[in-house]
Amino acid sequence: MTNRRDFLRKASLLTVSGMLAGKAGHVTANTLATHHAAASKIIGLQIYSLGSELHENVPAGMKKIKKMGYSTLELAGYNKGKIGKIDMMEFKKMAEDAGLKITSTHVNPPVREYSPKNKGEIMEFWKKAADDHAKIGVTYLIQPGQPATRSTEEVAYVGEIFNEAGKIAKAAGLSFGYHNHDGEFARVKPGGTEAVAGRRGFGKEVKGIEVIYDAMIKSTDPSLVFFELDVYWAVMGQADPVEYMRKYADRIRVLHIKDRAVLGQTGMMNFEMIFKQARAIGIKDYFVELEKYNGGTQFEGVKGCANYLLKAKFVK
Ligand code: MG
Repeated sequence: MTNRRDFLRKASLLTVSGMLAGKAGHVTANTLATHHAAASKIIGLQIYSLGSELHENVPAGMKKIKKMGYSTLELAGYNKGKIGKIDMMEFKKMAEDAGLKITSTHVNPPVREYSPKNKGEIMEFWKKAADDHAKIGVTYLIQPGQPATRSTEEVAYVGEIFNEAGKIAKAAGLSFGYHNHDGEFARVKPGGTEAVAGRRGFGKEVKGIEVIYDAMIKSTDPSLVFFELDVYWAVMGQADPVEYMRKYADRIRVLHIKDRAVLGQTGMMNFEMIFKQARAIGIKDYFVELEKYNGGTQFEGVKGCANYLLKAKFVK
């Protein structure tokens, strides 16, 4: 999202660089240009990455996050109008006081098995979640957890529920999205009782096999549901995130940028290709995510991720 303020900020940076280039010569101008390129990167953070460390002192933690180079946040831990133990409006203020903008949130409905019996309960939940998050002005309301999808029919029903959630979000001025792990890259068949993961999967004789992720995309309305692709979990599901972005350029709108540890340290993720493809299909928003980090504190790991992206030339 390039809003007016971002545009003006970038425009003014360009003007300053241009003036300096004229007056102070190439070396200074290039140094400043590099600095400005890093400063203009909009890097998001999924706050789950910090775990309980953030909740020890949220205002101080927010300032640390900002100083590392992040500028947007995706929430985790929503529960009845609160994030952790803090009222959402207060949480928003803590973020804003540190210069961070909350643009997204991860929220799971209370049930995993979807059926016409609990559809009402699920929709009640989304109504409240959408209203609460509209108040703090997020753009994206995202479900990060996979509902039960053991057959083609179950995936289709989940798609219906997602569309309904999408309508509720839209009415509140938000966009409803779905975030994957690796389980969505397993396959299902019509009338099946279990999803099958791995490249061997079902036998050739089985008809109508589909990858759950693809079936979810097919069964949802593009005007109501978008996808936040977690690139690491796609790889863990034996899928290629770059290929998925190509295939579903109009459906994948946000990314989770994640590695097994600190970004770029394992070699299992081709972030250069991922960022190139993301740019090619117009993705602007992404959030860094770090699971439990063994090399230090979560804050240190999250800082390592920011450093990687700030330095990377392929991140614009
Ligand atoms: Mg993720």
